[in-house]
Amino acid sequence: MLDGKCVFCRIIKGEIPAVKVYDDDKMCVFKDVEPKAATHLLAVPKSHFKLLADMDGGQAETLKYMFEKIPAIAEANGCGNGYRLVINQGDDAGQTVFHLHVHILGGEKLGDM
Ligand code: 5GP
Ligand code: ZN
Repeated sequence: MLDGKCVFCRIIKGEIPAVKVYDDDKMCVFKDVEPKAATHLLAVPKSHFKLLADMDGGQAETLKYMFEKIPAIAEANGCGNGYRLVINQGDDAGQTVFHLHVHILGGEKLGDM
């Protein structure tokens, strides 16, 4: 289920442009508009939910599927030497888009967090 007011749902639907590097029936991966690393992708499920804590069983299956797909997508986008995955959860983490997403960061030596 998608949310008409959510920016990532609108990207999934093609209503807002994004540079998509991978797209199938369960997930979409596109370039972050404000990259924090040489490669900065966002992997999003095609189902709108904010937090891991909100996930239903089908969404959890999709997240598992996403983690199976991410290594090849990262490698194909300049992250063959390693990458970092980040999932911000809630206010203290600075989550700004309330559609669960996995940041894929790499393409260069990343600093410590
Ligand atoms: P969060 O802080 O919620 O974990 O990450 C949200 C990310 O979405 C940020 O890195 C931000 O740059 C990115 N973002 C926000 N709006 C857009 C957009 O319209 N298009 C794209 N490609 N990325 C976006
Ligand atoms: Zn959404």
